[in-house]
Amino acid sequence: MSEHVASTGSESSDNTRKQKGGGHHTLYMIGAIVGALVTAWVAPSFAVSLKLGGEVFLRLLMMVVVPLVMASVMSGILGLGDVRRLGKPGAIAIGYYFSTTVLAVTTGVLIVNLFDPGVGLDADSLLEELDTAEHQEKLDDVKQDEAGPKDIGDIFHKMVLMLFTSNLLKSMVEGELLPLIVFSIAFAGMLTTMGRRSETIRTLIVGINDAMMGFVMLLMKFAPIGIFCLVTSSFGKFFLEGDAWSKISSLGWYMATVLVGLGIHAFITLPLILWVVTRRHPIQFYKQMSDALLTAFSTASSSATLPVTMECAEMKAGVSRRSVEFVLPLGATVNMDGTALYEAAAAIFMAQIHAGIDPEFTFGFTEQIIIAVTATLAAIGAAGIPEAGLVTMMIVLNAVDLPLTYLPLILPIDWLLDRFRTATNAFGDSVGSAVVDRSFKKIETD
Ligand code: ASP
Repeated sequence: MSEHVASTGSESSDNTRKQKGGGHHTLYMIGAIVGALVTAWVAPSFAVSLKLGGEVFLRLLMMVVVPLVMASVMSGILGLGDVRRLGKPGAIAIGYYFSTTVLAVTTGVLIVNLFDPGVGLDADSLLEELDTAEHQEKLDDVKQDEAGPKDIGDIFHKMVLMLFTSNLLKSMVEGELLPLIVFSIAFAGMLTTMGRRSETIRTLIVGINDAMMGFVMLLMKFAPIGIFCLVTSSFGKFFLEGDAWSKISSLGWYMATVLVGLGIHAFITLPLILWVVTRRHPIQFYKQMSDALLTAFSTASSSATLPVTMECAEMKAGVSRRSVEFVLPLGATVNMDGTALYEAAAAIFMAQIHAGIDPEFTFGFTEQIIIAVTATLAAIGAAGIPEAGLVTMMIVLNAVDLPLTYLPLILPIDWLLDRFRTATNAFGDSVGSAVVDRSFKKIETD
């Protein structure tokens, strides 16, 4: 065990040193995104044809998520030596997830009340314009997915069950990370009690983990190309639709509201927490995590970004491997600040529209609180995949009896806002790993 601790510790500092000259890579990544946006705008048909490259990159990332999450959580527990030592860092991690999500929701609620994007909006004519087959199909999907929970008790029930699986293989196949994390903690916890009998399997787990991280590092060398293809093809599709600018401009104020809210959380709240707790320089930390943030923007998926977030946090930001292994996989699934902020803001936006149309509809302080609470739960329950927040938003709308009529309004730009909220989600997790790192360091010195 101590061998594992010693080896991971020294590897981590070696790697931090190794990465010092890696600034060019970030420039390539930024260049890839800027180049992709320009290409998509100038030549949208060509842009769409690059979809295959983007899809391959995305699949390569997704391919490592399940083995990486299981091996890294297990090797984290094995490194601790005893699952009970997880108590304090675990409590800090959960406290961090919860408090930052609440801060994000509060920001969302305040900003949407300040900007009032839904007040006086001519929703009827906008909805008429948007009545396309594609949007109808998407709306049907969303409705079908979330026919379930109506009240907070129901949501809670569903969330508790999300932690446990009756079929481990099914959860692996479907990429449900939460039950896999629970299983991995229990399994590795058992291994730590078995003494020498578990030596072979421990070595195997640590080996798988190292191999997965090695693969991610290799993949990152090709990331600028993958990201270029991903961003080019999705923006190309948007520009090819023709009325791209009119969609953006008619909902411009709503988009601005969400972006300002996300901006406050990502550029004020989280950096402040980072600085106060860890004394790390926020600008430095953004730079170190930039590959993960750009990948989150390009993939719109926290799960697909997770391998990159782990790589950046450990290799570039020098967060201890233990904290990375424990905080990031769990964070990618439950800690979604951007999604929580977005869900609260979007639901209140729709409530503002509805209040203008139906004078019977009461929308006061109590409803705002209900939206805040359900948006927090909905974000915890959202999967780390593109536009998952849209699906769990049904929970928030149901909780305050808001009709789904206005959901199509936000569909055409949800894919775009999704990229910003996913980057915020990934940044929230990264800050969390640095915050919790302090308590792991304490365990090591004890
Ligand atoms: N796409 C987001 C993520 O993966 C979830 C969402 O807000 O839709 O983090």
